[in-house]
Amino acid sequence: MIKTDIIIIGAGPVGLFTVFEAGLLKLKCHLIDSLPQAGGQCSEIYPKKPIYDIPGFPTILAGELVDNLMEQAAPFKPGFTLGEAALSLEKDKENQFIVKTEKGTEHTAPVVIVAGGLGVFEPRKPPIENLSNYEDKGVEYIIKDPEFYRDKTCVISGGGESVLDWAFFIVVQKIGKKVTLLHRSSSFRGHLDSVQKIINLAEANKIELITEAEVIDLEGTNHLERIVVKHQTTGNRTIEADHFIPLFGLKPSLGPIADWGLEIEKNAIKVNPKDYSTAIPGVYAVGDVNTYENKLKLILCGFHEGTMAVQAAFARIYPDKKNILKYTTVNGIQGF
Ligand SMILES: Cc1cc2nc3c(=O)[nH]c(=O)nc-3n(C[C@H](O)[C@H](O)[C@H](O)COP(=O)(O)OP(=O)(O)OC[C@H]3O[C@@H](n4cnc5c(N)ncnc54)[C@H](O)[C@@H]3O)c2cc1C
Repeated sequence: MIKTDIIIIGAGPVGLFTVFEAGLLKLKCHLIDSLPQAGGQCSEIYPKKPIYDIPGFPTILAGELVDNLMEQAAPFKPGFTLGEAALSLEKDKENQFIVKTEKGTEHTAPVVIVAGGLGVFEPRKPPIENLSNYEDKGVEYIIKDPEFYRDKTCVISGGGESVLDWAFFIVVQKIGKKVTLLHRSSSFRGHLDSVQKIINLAEANKIELITEAEVIDLEGTNHLERIVVKHQTTGNRTIEADHFIPLFGLKPSLGPIADWGLEIEKNAIKVNPKDYSTAIPGVYAVGDVNTYENKLKLILCGFHEGTMAVQAAFARIYPDKKNILKYTTVNGIQGF
């Protein structure tokens, strides 16, 4: 049984910064995440994309932000249970919460902070019968590191902004050997400017643009080698492809958290914006996972919510202790 002051479910940017703010109050945290690494969406979906709205950083790559947050939390020695989804939330006879993971790891604490973001997220997949045979053998649903596609033949599929962005980046940075952008429709959902950039690349023969078509079959012995494309008017053709990357977005699902007796609204946990407390006393929800009037799903807002939630957690854990706000500039991290 792992014992701590606060169990944080979700090691995304908000969960990580909450560790720091809890540390300033001498509260120890243990984070649980179903993903094998910390960083949430920043690490899993867009580690190489720049973020422009983190205070004090005119621009920072999402992956770098996570590295910095890990470094900032490190002095407070958080524990981690990674690669395990939190399955159940219960209370024992001493009124302590018990959180169990899918692998049976048990954690106990007087306070739980849910920082579960979009929940256990799953990619939307195209309906191709043998798709699962090629997962991690040439089929990927997220571009984590564009370098993975160096000198490879790639077919990127979808109609949103991230498809246009990635296709443009992989071509312009001369990463892919050959890049094809394939979309079911003739119009894209991205910015006009991004669409025009792709059209310009196609006209310069730097990318193959196939619209009004979809992939219907995958071929290859131990790894993807070819894909079969069905065009709405010209019929079927086979294309060489080391990688097929359908970027159709992620299906947000709260997963097991939805069954814990919390008040759920629009796939998010309803909280009191005074301290981000939930319907279960002692359980708080911060970051993308919560909802309240005028909620903004931004990292910046999640940082504030985590800061406020640990203040409330302190008052709950130590009802008789007075908490005086101290500045880090005056006390330094070691002074907390
Ligand atoms: C492409 C893209 C670009 C973005 N750009 C910006 C931007 O420029 N600026 C900005 O402010 N925001 C941006 N965002 C939004 C930002 O990423 C989110 O607001 C932020 O990640 C929320 O952080 P979080 O810690 O609340 O949740 P997340 O980052 O979603 O992390 C939640 C973690 O909880 C884990 N989890 C969930 N359920 C469980 C469970 N039951 N057990 C164990 N673990 C669980 C998940 O695996 C995940 O790792 C962007 C998002 C995307 C997709």
